[in-house]
Amino acid sequence: MIFTYQYIKHDIEKLQEILDFLFYDVWLVAEGPFDIEKLNGNKDLKDIYEELGNIDYDPTSTKKNQKGKSAYFFNSSIENIYNEFAKINDDNFKLELIDFYSINNDIESLCSNKLKTPITYPELKARNPDLEGALYNFYSKLYGNESPFNLDIFGKLNEVLILSHYNSFMMANDSGICPFCGIYPIDGNYVSTREAYDHYLPKAIYPFNSINFKNLSPMCYKCNSGNKSTNDPINHIKGRKLAFYPYANNHSEIEFQFELLSKNVKSITPSEYTLSISAPAKNEEIETWKRIFKTDRKYKADGSIEYYSRYDELICNKHKAKEWFEDIFDYYENAKSISDIEDADKYYEKVVKATTRNPKLVENTIKRKFLEECKMKGLFNINP
Ligand SMILES: [Zn+2]
Repeated sequence: MIFTYQYIKHDIEKLQEILDFLFYDVWLVAEGPFDIEKLNGNKDLKDIYEELGNIDYDPTSTKKNQKGKSAYFFNSSIENIYNEFAKINDDNFKLELIDFYSINNDIESLCSNKLKTPITYPELKARNPDLEGALYNFYSKLYGNESPFNLDIFGKLNEVLILSHYNSFMMANDSGICPFCGIYPIDGNYVSTREAYDHYLPKAIYPFNSINFKNLSPMCYKCNSGNKSTNDPINHIKGRKLAFYPYANNHSEIEFQFELLSKNVKSITPSEYTLSISAPAKNEEIETWKRIFKTDRKYKADGSIEYYSRYDELICNKHKAKEWFEDIFDYYENAKSISDIEDADKYYEKVVKATTRNPKLVENTIKRKFLEECKMKGLFNINP
């Protein structure tokens, strides 16, 4: 990614704290049948459970009753998962689950350390299909329109908590640019719409982290839906990979190298230049990022193109490189004397300098590299 976000503390983290309590203090120690007394260690949650239990709901009725359905879903999920844990008589497996719960929620370590081994739903299913089923049923619905956390009693996740989190988040992260591509804008606090939050480690693959905000971050629509989608950055199943952590405090400098292979800059096509992107000491992370966000060209085995880099459009669109070049070339072309050429040089310097003002915008970096390459290759040279 081009830059990282700053993580913010927010009340929304209380939802994950509820889940932590359920895992460590209710499910892991499950013994005998479930009853409300099992929640004694968390008075607030006990009150919530009791109140939700008083809401009328008939699971067999076809009448729409979202409130009742959510309340029933939350309470019955706690009980179902409890019952599955109570059946486990292998203490070593429980100890493993403690590790997996902790690791699946340690997004930063999973991104930066391949020795950290998470657990996926298919892996859990192979060990204990009933437990996997109960956990998947619960965790896969905790985020989104069907989440029980949308109920008043939890502070209304969708209608209130996320909006409040987004507002605070955008105050702390106010560049207005998507850090995953550096191309598209991110909705800020002065528009009525907002970007969707992406589960960096997909919630359909990994249990336990679907409401962990270290695993959630706003992402532009193109990155989220068109490119990353449900791809797994750490690629645990197909061959473990390192990945950038969206909230890393120290993010490597991303370097762009651009080289012209032809002088045909006025109608340039991807085959007429090379654009390579690197990050010192973070080779694997940058390759992961290119793969997930399609920020590098991909070729088929026969050498034909599978897809272009998303940055190719930033160069080949007729209003980009062609206009960047012509804007400066006109000054050199009209030069009648040495002092005119000096003025053109000054203009070139000014345009290049302007591209350094916002390094988070990739188009600025590409424009600078392109113009520097044009200058170095002598494409502005005119004899008065
Ligand atoms: Zn983006």
